[in-house]
Amino acid sequence: MSRDPRYDLLFEPVRIGPVTTKNRFFQVPHCNGMGYRDPSALATMRAIKAQGGWGVVCSEQAEIHPSAEICPFIELRVWDDQDLPMLARIADAIHTYGALAGLQLCHNGMNAPNLYSREIPFGPADLPVASSLLDPVQARAMTKGDLRDLRRWHRDAARRARRADYDLVYVYAGKLFGGPMFFLSRRYNTRTDEYGGSLENRARLLRELIEDTKEAVGDRCAVACRISVDELIGEQGLHADEARDVIAYLAETPDLWDLTLSSWDNDSQSSRFAAEGYQEPFVRGIKQLTTKPVVGVGRFTSPDMMVRMVRQGVLDLIGAARPSIADPFLPQKIEQGRIEDIRECIGCNICVSGDYTASIIRCTQNPSMGEEWRRGWHPERIRARHAEAQVLVIGAGPAGLEAAMMLGRRGYDVTLAERGTQLGGRLVRERTLPGLAAWGRVVDYRASQIARMPNVAIYRDNALSADDVLAFGAAYVAIATGSHWRRDAVSRSVLEAIPIDPQLPLLTPDDLLQGARPAAHSVLIYDDDHYYMGGVLAEHLATQGHAVTLATPAAEVSMWTRNTMEQPRIQRRLLELGVRIAPPRVLTAAAAGRIELACAFTGQCQVFESEALIMVSSRLPSNELSRALEQRAAELADAGIEHLETIGDACAPGTIAAAVFAGRRYAEELGTEPREGALPFRREVAELLPFDVRQLLGEP
Ligand code: ADP
Ligand code: SF4
Repeated sequence: MSRDPRYDLLFEPVRIGPVTTKNRFFQVPHCNGMGYRDPSALATMRAIKAQGGWGVVCSEQAEIHPSAEICPFIELRVWDDQDLPMLARIADAIHTYGALAGLQLCHNGMNAPNLYSREIPFGPADLPVASSLLDPVQARAMTKGDLRDLRRWHRDAARRARRADYDLVYVYAGKLFGGPMFFLSRRYNTRTDEYGGSLENRARLLRELIEDTKEAVGDRCAVACRISVDELIGEQGLHADEARDVIAYLAETPDLWDLTLSSWDNDSQSSRFAAEGYQEPFVRGIKQLTTKPVVGVGRFTSPDMMVRMVRQGVLDLIGAARPSIADPFLPQKIEQGRIEDIRECIGCNICVSGDYTASIIRCTQNPSMGEEWRRGWHPERIRARHAEAQVLVIGAGPAGLEAAMMLGRRGYDVTLAERGTQLGGRLVRERTLPGLAAWGRVVDYRASQIARMPNVAIYRDNALSADDVLAFGAAYVAIATGSHWRRDAVSRSVLEAIPIDPQLPLLTPDDLLQGARPAAHSVLIYDDDHYYMGGVLAEHLATQGHAVTLATPAAEVSMWTRNTMEQPRIQRRLLELGVRIAPPRVLTAAAAGRIELACAFTGQCQVFESEALIMVSSRLPSNELSRALEQRAAELADAGIEHLETIGDACAPGTIAAAVFAGRRYAEELGTEPREGALPFRREVAELLPFDVRQLLGEP
C-alpha cells in the first residue's frame, strides 16, 4: 500500500533554523515518569517514536539546575557533565532511526519546590511556589545576580545539549513550568526593575535566554521557544492578546515556536472535555506573526485534520504527545496508506498518571508504552508463536481482545468466545456514558485488527461453562470474564457489611449501564471508587433530570482523576449541572428516604432523604468459570489443556489500561518459562561511586 496523495503535504521537509526535519510529524516534549531513573527505558521509548516515522522526537523537560527541580516528579536533568552520557544515549537512540532529537531545557523557577535539592526556589517575586502539590515552600524574588546565574546555567545546559548531539534546544516558557513564563505573567511578576512592568520588560528574560541559547548552539542546533498562548483564566492570566504581543515582539528571535495552553491540564485536556483539534482557536493567526515554523497540538489522530491545519496556515508542524504515545507508528501508517491500522489515542490521560504518580508512563491503547526496554515489548511487533498451538480466550473485553489480537499476531490458532453479542466487555456500555465515546476506540481498533486475521475465530453469544472449556480442549486457555460492581458498600472506607434496607431502591453501575433507571427523582450516588464512574454517573443522571447528591469519603469528587488532570473539570461540570456534592462522608446505613452518612473526620451522622441509592463502591472479579475449572484441575490434562490463566478484571478489577496490559502480557509470555528468582522486568541500577564509610565519618 502507498500513501494517499492528499497526505503528501505531511511528508514535506521543513527547515528549522540550521536543521531540517524530514516531515511535519513532531513529537513535542512529554513527561513519562521515567526520566533520570530509567534512562535506557526512556531512550528506547523515544527511539521507537523515531522508528515509527516522527521527524522530530523531543525529550521531556530537562531540569537545568538544582535550583529548580520538581521532585517527586521524575524528569531529565542537565545539571553537570555527569548527565551527559544519559542525554547522549537518548539523542543517539533517536538519531538511529533518522529523526531530529530535541531537548527541552527547563528552569522551573517558582514552580519548583526543590524538595530534593533543598535549594531556595526563586522567581520574579516573593511568593509561594506554584507547584501542584501545594508544598509549603516560598520562592524568593530574584536579584540581578540570580538572573545572571540563570542565564549562565542556561547557556551551560545548551552547550551540554549540543555536546550530547541534540538538534533542537528549547527555551521553555509554557504551562507554568518554564520559569520565564512567571516573568511574562502580570500576576506573578510585580517587579519594578527592567524585568517587570511593560511587556518588553516582562519578556526581557525570555528574550535573553533565547539569544543566549542561540549564541551557545545556534550554528549547529535550532532553538525552539515553547510558549503559552492562553491560561484560560481571563484577564488576570497570560491571555491570548498578550501572548500574541509577546510572540510578535520576539517573532524572529527563536527558530521555532511551540505553542501550548497553560497550565498542563488545559494543554492536555481529556476527551471527556475536549475534542480533537481543540487548540485551533487559540493558535489560529499566530503563524502570521512570524516567518519561523510553528508547531501546535490538539490530540491529532486524523490525517485529514492535520492536512487542514497546514493548508489553512494554522500550523507548519503537527505536534503530538498523546497520539504518539498511543501510536508511535502513526506517521509510518499514514505514509504506508494504512489509516485503518492507526491506534488512536482515546484521550483518557492515563499516560499523564504515570508522571503524576512518579511511576512509569502507561497507555490504555498502547500497552507496550514504557515497557519497550524493561520487558522488550514493541508497539507493532511481537515474536512468532513458540509452537503450533490452539489458544482459547474467553471474554472479549479489553483484556480478551488484546490477548486475542496479539496471540493472533504471534500466529497461534486463536478462538475468542464472548457471552454477549457485541465485543468490548465493559466498554460496550461504558462508551455510551457522557464524554466516554472516544474510549470505544479501544474496542474498535482491536476488533478491526482481529477481523482481518484468518487465524482468530470469534464466537459471539457463547457463554462458556467449565464443561464447554474442557470439551473444547485448547492447549492454552485465558479466562478474561471481567468483573461486576458490588451491591454492598464494601470498598476502601467500609470493610464490613452495613445495614441496607432491602426496600431501598439500590442500583449499581452495572444496573444503570444495562438500562435500568431509578424510578425515584432524588438519588444519592455513594462513590468510594474515586475514579471516573461516580462522577460520570452523576452527570448522566443529572442530565436525565434527577436530583443528584454525590457523597464520597474523599475531599473531592472523582479524587483519583487528579492524576489524569480531570478532577477540577469534573467537579465544575457537576456543580454546573446542579449536583449536590456532600462534604466527605462514609456510608453507615441506608433505608428508603433515609440514607445515613458519617462525617469522614468526626464520625457525626447526617441523614440524606434521597429515595434511591447508587452504589459505586468496588468491583468483584467475575471468576466463577475460573473457580469451576480450578475445582476440576485433575481433568485439565486429559482435556489437553496445558495451561489455564485468569487475566484482566477477572483476576483483579482495575483500569481499562490494566486490562489491556494484562491481555498483552498474557500474549507476550505464552510459551515462555519464568526464570526462577528473576524479576518480571529489567531495571537499571545506577553505578555506585567509590565509598569508604570510615573516611566519610572522619575516622582515621
Ligand atoms: P476486562 O476488562 O478484564 O477485559 P470486561 O468485563 O470488560 O473485562 O469483559 C469481560 C467479558 O467477558 C464480557 O464481555 C463478558 O460478556 C464476557 N464473559 C463473561 N463470562 C463469560 C463466559 N463464561 N463465556 C464467554 N464470555 C464471558
Ligand atoms: Fe491517549 Fe489515553 Fe494513551 Fe494517553 S493513555 S496516549 S490519553 S490513549
